[in-house]
Amino acid sequence: MSYRLGVLAGDGIGPEIVPAAVQVIDAALAATGATADWVPLPVGAAAIETHGSALPDVTVEALATLDGWLLGPHDSASYPAEHRAQLNPSGFLRKHFDLFANIRPAQAFDGTPALVPGLDLVVVRENTEGFYADRSTYRGTGEYMPTPDVAIAMGIFTRPAIERIARQACELALRRRQHLTIVHKANVLRTTTGFFLEICRAVAADYPQLEVDDFHIDAMTVHLVRRGADFDVLVTENMFGDILSDLTGELAGSLGIAPSINASHERAMAQAAHGSAPDIAGRGVANPTAMIASGAMLLDWLGAGTAAETITRGLRAAVADGVRTADLGGTAGTAEFAAAVVKTIDDLA
Ligand code: ATP
Repeated sequence: MSYRLGVLAGDGIGPEIVPAAVQVIDAALAATGATADWVPLPVGAAAIETHGSALPDVTVEALATLDGWLLGPHDSASYPAEHRAQLNPSGFLRKHFDLFANIRPAQAFDGTPALVPGLDLVVVRENTEGFYADRSTYRGTGEYMPTPDVAIAMGIFTRPAIERIARQACELALRRRQHLTIVHKANVLRTTTGFFLEICRAVAADYPQLEVDDFHIDAMTVHLVRRGADFDVLVTENMFGDILSDLTGELAGSLGIAPSINASHERAMAQAAHGSAPDIAGRGVANPTAMIASGAMLLDWLGAGTAAETITRGLRAAVADGVRTADLGGTAGTAEFAAAVVKTIDDLA
């Protein structure tokens, strides 16, 4: 079996963590008799230099022909003003390919300093609408300024988008510990997030095996800090999910271990939940775990479940052996950590 996969390194720590993920994925595929044909594609600040766009057409056209791809983080806040005004590369790709489900697991590693020991949950974030107004419209961004003193953003909630994300979350909960938590703010934003809650409940009624509860987004943050290990699958709208998954990643030990996948029924994009970490970029100290584990999620989505499990085992074995990057209290650099994961995978094979 051979997979054609895109590699979009991105900005900040992207050119450090994405090659690390490629190396580990190659090792895991080799261990299961499969291969990847990697297609490097321009994105981010480097693509602005070479192609005049942070996401050139050539990249988008090539992605449509591939089995999936790894997207490194982008530092769009640092782009020149005319590029900042456009949808950022990952927002564009999510919208263009209708990658409606952003699946963000958070799981503590044994023996690492997790803020919530035993945390093992998945945030299922609606990825195409909600309060991220910049991707809710066919044309324009959904944010506008009628006068220099007034800024307005639209939130959009549609039945089909809520139904499909709710179904995705229910299916995932069925395969896990069968507990679904709907996160909303229906006491204040009754029409929008109340609609989200109502539809999620209706979809969940088709899954009588599931235990279903719900919390307001603000209360949810408290419950996660206090007793995060009690939760299994959380489903929520776009912006709540973005914020909540940064929290759950850090509660599991570090944002540097928080993976994610953006998926439709046809396509998937692996992308670490964290950003470009400009404060540590270029020093070779970033934790590549999130990017590597995102790659494993992509392999799993492609049906290469054994290779995905191999990566997970390799990551855990390396950490258990004491090879840790600075965010987890260790001294290993990005390349050293990736090499240790490759070695454990080779040893396991
Ligand atoms: P963005 O707006 O792109 O999300 P940000 O600066 O708001 O960027 P991150 O880039 O995710 O957010 O960084 C938040 C913090 O987490 C920073 O201190 C960063 O160094 C740290 N961090 C993020 N990713 C990693 C990683 N892979 N390894 C180690 N530390 C990381």
